[in-house]
Amino acid sequence: MTLNEVIKDKSRIYTGDNVPHDYLYDEYVGTAPSVHAVVLPINHDEVVAAVKYANDHDLKIIARGAGTGLSGATAPQFNELIIDLSLMNRIHGLDEKTMTLTVEPGVLLHEIQEYVESRRFFYPPDPGSKNSSIGGNVATNAGGMRAVKYGVTRNYVKEMTVVLATGETMVLGSLNVKSSSGYDLKDLFIGSEGTLGITTLIRLKVIPLPMHKLSYVLAFEDLQEATRTVAAILQEGIDPTSLEFFEREMIEISVKETGIAFPTEKGKSFLLMTIDGDSMDHIYARGARLETVANAHGVVDFLTLESAQLESDVWKLRDSLLSAVVNYTEQVTMDETVPINHVATLYAYTKDLEAEYGVQLMSFGHAGDGNLHTCVMRGNLDQATWDEKRHLILDKLYAKIAELGGLPSAEHGIGLIKKPYFEAMTAPVNLEAMRAIKNAFDPHHRLNPNKVL
Ligand SMILES: Cc1cc2nc3c(=O)[nH]c(=O)nc-3n(C[C@H](O)[C@H](O)[C@H](O)COP(=O)(O)OP(=O)(O)OC[C@H]3O[C@@H](n4cnc5c(N)ncnc54)[C@H](O)[C@@H]3O)c2cc1C
Repeated sequence: MTLNEVIKDKSRIYTGDNVPHDYLYDEYVGTAPSVHAVVLPINHDEVVAAVKYANDHDLKIIARGAGTGLSGATAPQFNELIIDLSLMNRIHGLDEKTMTLTVEPGVLLHEIQEYVESRRFFYPPDPGSKNSSIGGNVATNAGGMRAVKYGVTRNYVKEMTVVLATGETMVLGSLNVKSSSGYDLKDLFIGSEGTLGITTLIRLKVIPLPMHKLSYVLAFEDLQEATRTVAAILQEGIDPTSLEFFEREMIEISVKETGIAFPTEKGKSFLLMTIDGDSMDHIYARGARLETVANAHGVVDFLTLESAQLESDVWKLRDSLLSAVVNYTEQVTMDETVPINHVATLYAYTKDLEAEYGVQLMSFGHAGDGNLHTCVMRGNLDQATWDEKRHLILDKLYAKIAELGGLPSAEHGIGLIKKPYFEAMTAPVNLEAMRAIKNAFDPHHRLNPNKVL
């Protein structure tokens, strides 16, 4: 079988010099010399045919969504066949009776959010990358801003159809609310970064859209106090929808990038928080408790973002943080997580390393669930110094995260670039079990080889 028999329309096949550079290039890994081909299927059967083609030609495969991943997981290494799912982008519909939305993997996150919200339903997972695909979100178990209240992508996948390495089709999960029926294969595939199968259809759980929401900015003189306030907010049962933190220096980069002003001159560290609910009275009552907690922890400014424009502007600044940092300087942005009681310790350690190595380390993150994004910034270091210091800093940081009981990735995945740290931080017996699972589903390591494990 030739590629033209697999994908009938030639405009959906790239080979040789016609392969766009985007498919070969990864910001953290560099440029691959070649790939066998890139194909863009438009339905499940074409994905099956492409996988069978790869088997016939003994090719490795990379499934690709919108290509926004931050762990090198779509970087080619072995002259792979890239199966780009972005044209499988139909929303099949919302079933209000089962409260499920059926989508193809190439549908973008913001399209899902807009579709369900216009029908008064809500899909809570909310990574900053609104242009990422739902197939990529499932493959990385993406988290985002609202995980502190609503959980992560995993909590919203009811059922998914996958094409296995052999070309066979498997349906994982079901529309049932409960299951004690054997091993949960769906949960195994979620977060597997395209190493176990290629997702071609997803049924997502949606919930009723909360009627109201209100956001707050809390300014503090130091981040230790901000992180202590996070614990108090959670213990007080204020139940934030989102609870983000960032430093002044960090938000200034986003201000420059977006041209949006940040609404306070006071403070060096900030919490940005949203509360949602079905009545404004209920939200105001929780907001009043929030202010009491904040005052008890030395807040230097407490802003209620009553204007919808101001609220949207401040969240835009937050959502733009990562892309602003990427444009600001070469950097490594981590997505580590530690138990919530160790956030302050880890942050303090980043500042120790900053002083020790003379390399700028800035942080922002999802404070409410212990997920930091520490950014190791190159600034104007020459290449040799940057290479040397970056490795030393990352080694020490990941060792500290392990010591605190944390994990190397909370939401972006292991991919290629976090593999050494993942291996060092995971018990050998666990790694062996994961390798056995990979071998059971994909004995020839055809699907995204050398990623994760
Ligand atoms: C500016 C920015 C902000 C971000 N903020 C957040 C955040 O707040 N929270 C968060 O969790 N993440 C965040 N991310 C990372 C984001 O979650 C991932 O980029 C996204 O989930 C990947 O989706 P994608 O469609 O781009 O997938 P790709 O980058 O194309 O692929 C990512 C992985 O998914 C696999 N994959 C893709 N589609 C399929 C499929 N159909 N079947 C099987 N495997 C597949 C690939 O093989 C690869 O392993 C951010 C990224 C950026 C650039």
